[in-house]
Amino acid sequence: MLRIKALESITEREPKKTNIPKGKISDYFGQLTFNDAAMREYLTREAYEKVMNAISFGEKIERRIADQVAASLKAWAIGMGATHYTHWFHPLTGSTAEKHDAFINPVTGGKAIENFRGTELIQQEPDASSFPSGGIRNTFEARGYTAWDPTSPAFLLDNTLCIPTIFVSYTGEALDFKTPMLKALNIVDSAAVDVCKYFDKDVNKVVATLGWEQEYFLIDTALFNARPDLVLTGRTVFGHASAKDQQLSDHYFGTIPARVMEFMKEFEYEAHKLGIPVKTRHNEVAPNQFECAPVFEEANLAVDHNQLLMHLIKRIANRHNFTVLLHEKPYAGVNGSGKHNNWSLMTNTGINLLSPGKDSKSNLRFLTFLVNILKALHSHADLIRSAIASAGNDHRLGAHEAPPAIISAFIGTQLTKVLNELEKQGKIKNDSTLELNLNIPKIPEILLDNTDRNRTSPFAFTGNKFEFRAVGSSATCSKAMTPLNLILADQLIQFKNEVDGLITKGVKKKNAILQVLRRYVLESKNIRFEGNSYGEEWAVEAGKRGLSNFRSTPDALIKTLSQDTIDLYEKHSILTKREMVARHEIKMEKYAKQIQIEARVLGDLATNHIIPVAIQYQNILIENVKGLKDVLDHKTFVKLSKSQVQSIKDISEHISGIKENVIMMIDERKTANKIDNEQDKALFYNKKVLPYFELIRYHVDKLELLVDDRLWPLPKYRELLFLK
Ligand code: ADP
Ligand code: MG
Repeated sequence: MLRIKALESITEREPKKTNIPKGKISDYFGQLTFNDAAMREYLTREAYEKVMNAISFGEKIERRIADQVAASLKAWAIGMGATHYTHWFHPLTGSTAEKHDAFINPVTGGKAIENFRGTELIQQEPDASSFPSGGIRNTFEARGYTAWDPTSPAFLLDNTLCIPTIFVSYTGEALDFKTPMLKALNIVDSAAVDVCKYFDKDVNKVVATLGWEQEYFLIDTALFNARPDLVLTGRTVFGHASAKDQQLSDHYFGTIPARVMEFMKEFEYEAHKLGIPVKTRHNEVAPNQFECAPVFEEANLAVDHNQLLMHLIKRIANRHNFTVLLHEKPYAGVNGSGKHNNWSLMTNTGINLLSPGKDSKSNLRFLTFLVNILKALHSHADLIRSAIASAGNDHRLGAHEAPPAIISAFIGTQLTKVLNELEKQGKIKNDSTLELNLNIPKIPEILLDNTDRNRTSPFAFTGNKFEFRAVGSSATCSKAMTPLNLILADQLIQFKNEVDGLITKGVKKKNAILQVLRRYVLESKNIRFEGNSYGEEWAVEAGKRGLSNFRSTPDALIKTLSQDTIDLYEKHSILTKREMVARHEIKMEKYAKQIQIEARVLGDLATNHIIPVAIQYQNILIENVKGLKDVLDHKTFVKLSKSQVQSIKDISEHISGIKENVIMMIDERKTANKIDNEQDKALFYNKKVLPYFELIRYHVDKLELLVDDRLWPLPKYRELLFLK
């Protein structure tokens, strides 16, 4: 049997030693990337400057320069042993895609030369018809093209030169996650620069910064392969809780097992060579759960690095007989995995805009960005909720272990006092004419060291950045980064207009800023919550405040097509309505398909794996009872066979419980599959099919407790959750 074989195979495993060169990380950091040092070495001065301008100011790279860059890239890559190149992009599947081409071109005389021209660097045309497009592409325009993103350095993977690109349809619609994000980052740059000019004329560039924290589970690959549900859906659909799991809290920050350590060392080594500044590693709360976090970077680069890291850990894990689970909730009853997105803004002058300053001018700048973020979140909470919606994340949000599905922000008692102070100042009757003597509230200096932390908030201020904690572990960070930067940009533009309006009317700059901020503090107050976000009381309180609480993905996703959101995206040319509708359809379709697959796996496992074993064991019990009847006198028999007879009855009840529910679930699925509209189908799967999962699981998990351990076909939680 697969389970027993799998269990036997792992007892023999030794940690696999890895060959990591001795010496400093800085000796090999970024060695596989066309980074600044490589560019300086390989590019002409002119080409280098043009690429730098493209990176810093989005300036276009002309054809002649692209040819030069391509030639240099080729020389560098071939020198490093590369034979192929690929445009590396992020289609709407959520993973990454690539199509490899060899550098070689045949020439006369049966020979070949390595060739790579500027056009091949800048643009390619992969056949787009197999990527999700939400019906945007008709067959006659089934072409998409990828275009070079010079802001993320090319890198080498498996002797292949990977060139980060955007992916758009032939008619110009974005077919990836990167395109709208780059646009949003661009807009927040210019909007933030404009606001920064109130405080410092030298600011001419603002980048969004992102530091992600990636959580994941490890499982021995033999055990993984013995669980068809993990293989096909990424999560266990059955499994009775282990007698011990996380209740002793002995895993968090505990000693990392030797086998895991070897795996971590190796993937960190590979990550460092690729320029991913991985810094932190530790055990997480749940058994077999781990986290890895890099130093923060410019958001676009950080997003690419996270995508690359997810790919890397899966591959390296295989070499150590591990499988990485990036699913948000692989196991019921223990914590799931998230991906905290630490987010801030940084100026070209080196100022973190969410870092409280020392003097009153920098304090005002800090308050300006803090309050604008709160205001933006208040205005677009539903959009931010929908950005993190996925079938996997539904198991986390609101399950008393992860931030709830209600979007709110935590800023800590100190800053709450500061905002309250601002709010109390001068009651403004008509803020366009009155000159008020507003003061900048003093920001306590100890803020950064302040341990006043709230782990339950989905969006928490942590001293010099916001930490968006509700993002799912498998999601690309761009899903969060695009809307967050967009809503902030929109908000900052509005802020600037209002402040300028007051200044034109004669209000002094400082007072104009404070007046508008004061109003924003009042208007966005409802989004702030300092208490325990896991508690039931918060759900009630949030309801009274009028905050949304979308518990399921389809319910949350509907909000991405609200008129407000469409206007926001169209106003800033991030996505057109057509593109948004297409994306919406893709997400709804993906949700329905995921639930459909889970339902199939669940039905199959219950019917073909669990029930036969339950019957087999039940027959053993029946034989046993018959035997007892033969050898015992009637009175003793009645007394002693009671518990076995009860087990026989219990098993029958659970078997019929499974059968009935599986039949009803299949019926609902049949109805679901006749629905054409993707949104209606997703809603149907959510409301009508999904509820059967728990009902069926209940009976299966009860059977797990009744049936002989040696017969049970699926590795149990206690076997899955504790690595040897
Ligand atoms: P912790 O939250 O565990 O105390 P840190 O405060 O050092 O740890 O930061 C956690 C994460 O936040 C790290 O990934 C780090 O890179 C990131 N981070 C720190 N500063 C910023 C910033 N200004 N912008 C974005 N991310 C940041
Ligand atoms: Mg964190």
